[in-house]
Amino acid sequence: MKDCLFCAIVAGDIPATIVYETPDVTAFRDVNPQAPTHVLVIPKEHYAHVPEIAEADPALVAELMRGAIAVAEIEDITESGYRLVANTGAGAGQSVFHAHVHVLGGRSLTWPPG
Ligand code: 5GP
Ligand code: ZN
Repeated sequence: MKDCLFCAIVAGDIPATIVYETPDVTAFRDVNPQAPTHVLVIPKEHYAHVPEIAEADPALVAELMRGAIAVAEIEDITESGYRLVANTGAGAGQSVFHAHVHVLGGRSLTWPPG
């Protein structure tokens, strides 16, 4: 999609540090990390947020989750624990309207997040 930051990353027009990739999903480091591991897992195809994927292609939601789990393995945070976050809507803090799941870990994460 035109004027979409994450579509530009998928296209290679904006550089990113890719940590994991499948034909349908890519994962790259967040430019403003909130934890030692902070990776964004996104569908290569443009969807605004996770509910839009769930409506159009439920199997892709599962693929996104598998990607997040694979990232946790690669980053060696499976044992220590990690958090998956999908901010959905501006009111929840979503700032990039290309669906993504944050994978956060590598430090103690408190709950509730605030
Ligand atoms: P949201 O607030 O939509 O849940 O998350 C968007 C995330 O994208 C933020 O954590 C932000 O730091 C990250 N981000 C914004 N612009 C870029 C960029 O150009 N490159 C990368 N790698 N991450 C970005
Ligand atoms: Zn996009």
